[in-house]
Amino acid sequence: MKLRVLVDNNTYIDQYYLGEPAVSYYLETDGLRILFDTGYSDIVLQNAEAMGIDLGGLTHIVLSHGHNDHTRGLRFLRERFHLSQVQLVAHPGCLRPKWMDGMDIGAPFGETEAAAAFDYRPQTGPYALSENCVFLGEIPALHDFEPRRCFGRTLDASGAEIGEFVTDDSALACRTGDGLFIVTGCSHSGICNIVDYARQVLGEDRVAGVIGGFHLFEADQRLRQTIGRLKALAPKVLYPCHCVSLRAKAEMLKALPVEEVGVGLAITL
Ligand SMILES: [Zn+2]
Ligand SMILES: [Zn+2]
Repeated sequence: MKLRVLVDNNTYIDQYYLGEPAVSYYLETDGLRILFDTGYSDIVLQNAEAMGIDLGGLTHIVLSHGHNDHTRGLRFLRERFHLSQVQLVAHPGCLRPKWMDGMDIGAPFGETEAAAAFDYRPQTGPYALSENCVFLGEIPALHDFEPRRCFGRTLDASGAEIGEFVTDDSALACRTGDGLFIVTGCSHSGICNIVDYARQVLGEDRVAGVIGGFHLFEADQRLRQTIGRLKALAPKVLYPCHCVSLRAKAEMLKALPVEEVGVGLAITL
């Protein structure tokens, strides 16, 4: 499995890629070419071009959840490439409208437009992209210390307005020789819930690594319990980024094999 960071909040010194507070990763595994999240703007196109990655040759686009820092780049991908053969994999709630304090924080278009432009595959449960790479679908609450929080408003399947608990939040898990490598967006459903659910779904206990937003900010009880659980799983490497504060990273670094993330980072397993 190969992964390249196309969009992240951070950029590295002397590497002139563009950054923004958003997520997009390019993965190659089992002969698939997967774009996981699309970033917020068109920098996903510019960075991919600078890295020599042809996004016109994708087999899959996987969306971690519907927030615009993960999905808005879809608009620019659709304008640039013909993607009707590309599977667009996401929870059905991902492309429903989402707003907070009157601000649109959702995807750039809904399910009808998605089905017109892509091979749209809404998935509530686990969906195998290949033998060793699985979109997890909705993440169950396995740990009490990771309760879901309300994050603005959305619509349910019938079109009724409801509080938004980001139940569309999901992740991708890839089986490698060293165990699972797990790719997350913002981990609104809890990073330990995601990792432990991935272990259940793929029937693999070992965790090779995790990259993505872990949604950790305060040095509080939740962070301590998260660190305790992750430590028990003995991952080889962790790449917490995007929505993880410096304080949270510093606490994690004391107990876990944490590495820095930036645009251009390449990981091979
Ligand atoms: Zn989010
Ligand atoms: Zn985010």
